[in-house]
Amino acid sequence: MKTQRADAVVIGGGAAGLLASALLAERGIDTLLIEPNKSLGKKLRITGKGRCNLTNNCDNKQFMENVPCNGKFLYSSLSKFGTADAMSFFERIGVPLKTERGNRVFPVSDSASDVANALERFGRQQGIKRLYKRVTALKAVDNELTRVIAEDTEIICKAAILCTGGASYPGTGSTGDGYALAEALGHTVISPRPSLVPLISDDDYCLEMQGFSLRNVTLHVLDENNKLVFEELGEMLFTHFGVSGPLVLSASSHMRDYSKHKYRLSIDLKPGLTEQQLDDRILRDFKKYSNREFQNALCDLEGRMMIPVLVRLSGIPEDTKVNSITKKQRQELVRLFKDFPVNVVEPCPVSDAIITSGGINIREIDPKTMSSKLIKGLYFAGEIIDVDAYTGGFNLQIAWSTAYTAAKSVEID
Ligand SMILES: Cc1cc2nc3c(=O)[nH]c(=O)nc-3n(C[C@H](O)[C@H](O)[C@H](O)COP(=O)(O)OP(=O)(O)OC[C@H]3O[C@@H](n4cnc5c(N)ncnc54)[C@H](O)[C@@H]3O)c2cc1C
Repeated sequence: MKTQRADAVVIGGGAAGLLASALLAERGIDTLLIEPNKSLGKKLRITGKGRCNLTNNCDNKQFMENVPCNGKFLYSSLSKFGTADAMSFFERIGVPLKTERGNRVFPVSDSASDVANALERFGRQQGIKRLYKRVTALKAVDNELTRVIAEDTEIICKAAILCTGGASYPGTGSTGDGYALAEALGHTVISPRPSLVPLISDDDYCLEMQGFSLRNVTLHVLDENNKLVFEELGEMLFTHFGVSGPLVLSASSHMRDYSKHKYRLSIDLKPGLTEQQLDDRILRDFKKYSNREFQNALCDLEGRMMIPVLVRLSGIPEDTKVNSITKKQRQELVRLFKDFPVNVVEPCPVSDAIITSGGINIREIDPKTMSSKLIKGLYFAGEIIDVDAYTGGFNLQIAWSTAYTAAKSVEID
C-alpha cells in the first residue's frame, strides 16, 4: 500500500467536489481531490441536455418551495451561498450567465462543459492535487477520521468531504459508493429512490405510440382518491415502457410514495379549449369529413400515431360513418381528449433517474457546517445527502451551497 498525505481530501470530482476542493485550496489548505474518472464533472457535463441549468434566479422562499424533501436542512447553507452568490461566483470564474423561462440560469454559451472546465481551471489555479482512483474505505480512530483508502493508496488526512453523489446515471461514476463508505462509519442511509424519472405503464398503447411526443398538453397526476398531486402544461412523450419527457420527469418527483398511493395520469390533449369549444371543433371536422369513416376523420385534431388509440378508446367502431355518430358518442370523445388516461405501475429504476432521492440521514449532519455528527473530520456535500428538489437548477444549487458550506467549515489545526 502506498502512502500519501493531504490536509483535506475531497472524494468525488462532480459538481460538489469540484467546487469544494477549489474553495478548500483557495483557503490555503493542502487539498487532494480523488475521482476515478479521467474526466472530472462527467455528470455536470451532461446536465440540462448539455446546457447546464446551474441554478435558479429566485429568492430563498421560492427555492424552498422547490425542495419537497428536507428543505429546512438547507436554510443555513443557502444563506451562506445562495443562488445570487452562485451566479456571481460563476461569472467571476469566467462563465457569463443568462436567465431563461422559469428563472432557470444557464451559461450564455449553452455549454455545460464550459461550467465544468471553469471549475476545473479554478481548482487548478488554487493548486489542488488530484488522484484518479476510487475510494474504497474511510478509516476513523476514536470517531475521528484519519485515513482515506483509494485502491492501493492510503491517504493520511485531517478532514474529508464525501461528495460521491447519488446512484443515478452510474455511467457517469455516481454509483452510490458513498452510501456504503458512510455506513461503514456508522451513518444511516435513507434508502435511495428515483426522482425526476420516466414512468412505467401497463397500458399497451404506450408501446404502440412509442416515440410520439405531445406538445402543449396539460398533465395531471391523481392519486387513488382522485386527489390532484401535480398539474402542469408542457411536453411529454410515449415510450416502449410508458411515458417520459420534461412534464413526466417533473411529475414523478411529486409521486413520492408508491407503497401508500396508486397514481394515475390524465392528459388534457387540448388544454386551450373548453369541452364546449372542443365539441364545436369536432363537429366542424365531422361536417368537413361527413362521408368518411370515423378512423379517418380525426386527422386535423391529433397526430397520426395517436389516432388509432383514440379511436379504440372512444368505443366508437372505427368504420362508423362520421355522419352517424351520435351526440353522446361525440361527448365521450371530447372527454377522452380532455382526460386521456395512462395508468402508472411504477417509476423506472434509480439508475435511470435524473436525481436520487434519499441518502445520508440529515439528522446525522450539522446543517451549519455539513459535518458529520458521528465522525470528527468527515463532511458531506451534494446529492449524497437526503435532500432533493424539482427541476429548474435547484439540484445543482444544492450541490453548490452544501459544497461551499463544507469547504468553509473544514478545520485543520
Ligand atoms: C441527465 C442529467 C441532467 C441533469 N440536469 C440538471 C440540471 O440541468 N440542473 C440541475 O440542477 N441538476 C441537474 N441534474 C442533477 C445534477 O447533475 C446532480 O444533482 C449533481 O450533479 C450532483 O452533484 P454531486 O457532486 O453531488 O454528484 P455527481 O455530480 O454525481 O458527482 C459525484 C462524483 O463522485 C465520483 N465518485 C463516486 N464514487 C466514488 C468513489 N468511490 N471514489 C471517488 N469518487 C467517486 C463520481 O465519479 C462522480 O464524479 C441532472 C442530472 C442528470 C443525470
